[in-house]
Amino acid sequence: PAPASGRAAAPAARAAREPRVIGADAPVPLDDGREVPYANLDYAASAPCLEAVHEAVTKALPYYSSVHRGAGYASQVTTDAYEKARETVRGFLGAWRRSAVVFTRNTTDAMNLLAHAVPPGTTVVVFETEHHATLLPWRRAVRLPAPATPAEAIDAADRALAAAPTGPRLLVVTAASNVTGELWPVRELANVARRHGARIAVDAAQLVPHRPIDMSALGVDYVAFSGHKLYAPFGAGVLAGRADWLRAAAPYLKGGGASAAVTGRGDTTRWAADAEQRHEAGTPNVLGVIALAAACDTLSAGWDARIEHEERLLARLRAGIASIPGVRELTLWGDRGPRVGIVSLLVDGWNARDVALTLSGEYGIGVRDGKFCAHPFVRHLLDTGGAGGCADGEGSAVRASFGIGTTDEHVDRLVGALARLASRGA
Ligand code: PLP
Repeated sequence: PAPASGRAAAPAARAAREPRVIGADAPVPLDDGREVPYANLDYAASAPCLEAVHEAVTKALPYYSSVHRGAGYASQVTTDAYEKARETVRGFLGAWRRSAVVFTRNTTDAMNLLAHAVPPGTTVVVFETEHHATLLPWRRAVRLPAPATPAEAIDAADRALAAAPTGPRLLVVTAASNVTGELWPVRELANVARRHGARIAVDAAQLVPHRPIDMSALGVDYVAFSGHKLYAPFGAGVLAGRADWLRAAAPYLKGGGASAAVTGRGDTTRWAADAEQRHEAGTPNVLGVIALAAACDTLSAGWDARIEHEERLLARLRAGIASIPGVRELTLWGDRGPRVGIVSLLVDGWNARDVALTLSGEYGIGVRDGKFCAHPFVRHLLDTGGAGGCADGEGSAVRASFGIGTTDEHVDRLVGALARLASRGA
């Protein structure tokens, strides 16, 4: 029946739109043979798939075909879905209407594409706290040490850009740390970049699953992210941003799609002028892109409730950790500033790998251990964060991360397990 009024319909409509993940409570075996519902606290590595993503892919499967090539119905439908996905991503990111949205394999691929496209002689400024995907691809980079406060980050970027030789400049920064979950002052850094006539590229791999982003409002020139951290499957990512450098660069991959015309015996090629076509040679990951766009579409509404849920769980987890003697959280900026649902920690006397294996085998909890592809940053946190007896000798830590579908029970199970580990020793 038709709703009596818009007001009465609102809660039902909200409930229908609330995103849900697949397999949130799938059973996992423990070492003793029992099964328990999985407590997946490893979203920062790869987030579980949204139901809406699964539906979008299922709907696309019967008609998938190669894009931009054929006149057959399936090819038309697929091309249409693929190009609509670009518009969905553009809207999700708040990108300028004329900016390029290039589909890549993931964030690493997107950052490497940008590094490939920066004009020769560009000074790239990057903090050493970055994920390797964002730290390593640049030919010539000024590396800034980990800043002690967000204000210091802004100052350091300001000084580095002021000192850069004339020519193009690019400031590269991660919006949300994959190690500590700390949010970086992107708006202020974008202002600094603009003041120096520099561009700013943002690694949003850990931001977009947790917070909205508006590139044009922030004045951000480039954004990179991965579908698999945004509740979609693997193999599709995005580089969005200004088209001029991308249009001027040689194709990232050479082959069909990137070539507008090939004459003679293949010795003369006119490359596509359009930034997307130029850098998307070969048959693209159409289903990955459709999945990624479905995730963007689903997540573009309802931020307030999701952020509230995440912040409540984060406070619960941090309070739990703080109450356990011998468990220490790693942060760069302490309690200064906002965070997303990512927490790295050490357990006194325990090797990080053993913590992760015990959490899995005895409690059905999935976490990540290691250096999180951010070796200089984790080393810095261990050297300066008073890790003391907690450091495991390998320079590794344990990371818990969460989002849609995570419950109080998951967090409480982790806190209870950590307390037992800390009290019994390795
Ligand atoms: N940047 C950040 C902040 C990340 O957390 C990750 C993945 O862990 C990446 C980049 C690289 O993402 P991908 O492995 O999907 O290329």
